[in-house]
Amino acid sequence: MSAPVVGRFAPTPSGRLHLGNLLCCLLAYLSCRSQGGKFLLRIEDLDAPRCPKRLADQCIADLRFLGFDWDEPPLYQSERTGIYQQAFDRLCAMGLIYPCFCTRAQLHAAQAPNLGDREPVYNRACAALTPGEIAERAKTRTPAMRLRVPDEDVSFVDGHFGPVCENLERDCGDVILRRSDGLFAYQLAVVVDDALSGVTEIVRGRDILSATPRQIYLQRLLGYATPAYRHIPLLMDSQGRRLAKRDKDLDLTALSKVMTPEQILGMLAFSAGVIPENRPAGLTELTKLFDWKNVKKDDIWLAYP
Ligand code: GLU
Repeated sequence: MSAPVVGRFAPTPSGRLHLGNLLCCLLAYLSCRSQGGKFLLRIEDLDAPRCPKRLADQCIADLRFLGFDWDEPPLYQSERTGIYQQAFDRLCAMGLIYPCFCTRAQLHAAQAPNLGDREPVYNRACAALTPGEIAERAKTRTPAMRLRVPDEDVSFVDGHFGPVCENLERDCGDVILRRSDGLFAYQLAVVVDDALSGVTEIVRGRDILSATPRQIYLQRLLGYATPAYRHIPLLMDSQGRRLAKRDKDLDLTALSKVMTPEQILGMLAFSAGVIPENRPAGLTELTKLFDWKNVKKDDIWLAYP
């Protein structure tokens, strides 16, 4: 018998959930529940000033309004610093972490032009500082802490997107695991939390696809299993722009005034290809109908009823 599926939704409550977040939750939920899996909710509020409790509560209320449920009390990353510290200490003990004193402006200036969609790769300006140089710089600036990555390819097969391969040194660069303000970075927290929660399937937006190889590398270093990944296309508004937290008319405050939960879920399910017509549908019915084969692979345009 194969191991039970454990899925999750991990929103960052820095604003009200928008339809793109909700589509991600919907597909993660349907995939997990249609396999009889356990579903978890994790509130990624590491950046506490940007993610006040009020927004986390609102996020949970919004998910409940739509009928989502989860099998354990939600985890709050803001309460788990000690757990991230332990993982961080293990990586330090492996000699893989170094302090980086570069300012935002320095990082920006060192960036090669014409990167296109690619994110900048750190130029390792701080990778070979001597203990004396580190002590001197630490007098005026608290460093970020970076993980040194090897010249190594990491590949995996995304369940929805297909094969992905990235060279850590060339495509990703040394990863910040603790920011200069002392907060642990998403890259570390997400890996630790998914592993300790026993998550076996991660469904999330394609905007995070390029972060996955570095997360798999971290899993390997920390001795964690790699879950199955499915990165889903992004949701576009009627002008073909990616939905974002700035689109106030598409957040649930506005939508819940004019649509029922079943209308909102049905609209999302239809837009993504889960059902063939735009009609109200609840989670129980959608779970029965769900099949990844029907989910679109290209950008998803939101279809209003
Ligand atoms: N917290 C991230 C977001 O809201 C998602 C992280 C993940 O699913 O791994 O974009």
